[in-house]
Amino acid sequence: MTKKEAPCAICGQEVSFKYKPMPEWNVSGIICGKCYSEKLVEHYIAQDRRDITKK
Ligand SMILES: [Zn+2]
Repeated sequence: MTKKEAPCAICGQEVSFKYKPMPEWNVSGIICGKCYSEKLVEHYIAQDRRDITKK
């Protein structure tokens, strides 16, 4: 059985463990864990700079 998995929407590599990107990342489709964590870091750094008071 060969199940065709959609590649990561960012790096285009095969995704073994799918992650759903956040809407504000402007990424359609699923992404891999590596890109997810990268995006997450980017996102938090961006938030940090904007001095967001979110709990
Ligand atoms: Zn990726």
